[in-house]
Amino acid sequence: MVECTVEKNKASCTCTYEECSRKGKCCECVAYHRNKKQLPGCFFSKEGERTYDRSYRRFIIENS
Ligand code: SF4
Repeated sequence: MVECTVEKNKASCTCTYEECSRKGKCCECVAYHRNKKQLPGCFFSKEGERTYDRSYRRFIIENS
């Protein structure tokens, strides 16, 4: 059985939405945002993450 690393993930998570029930559960976080055609907050810069715009568009703008 694979060990869950939620607490370890939480310690390094850069998402500022602290109330999120998926924080530290990276598999759920990725699935949630993928279903919305988005990326998790940790893909963005500190400034970009704070906009809560997790769209592919925002990611491309930030990285072009
Ligand atoms: S990136 Fe989204 S799903 Fe992941 S912890 Fe932040 S708000 Fe929650």
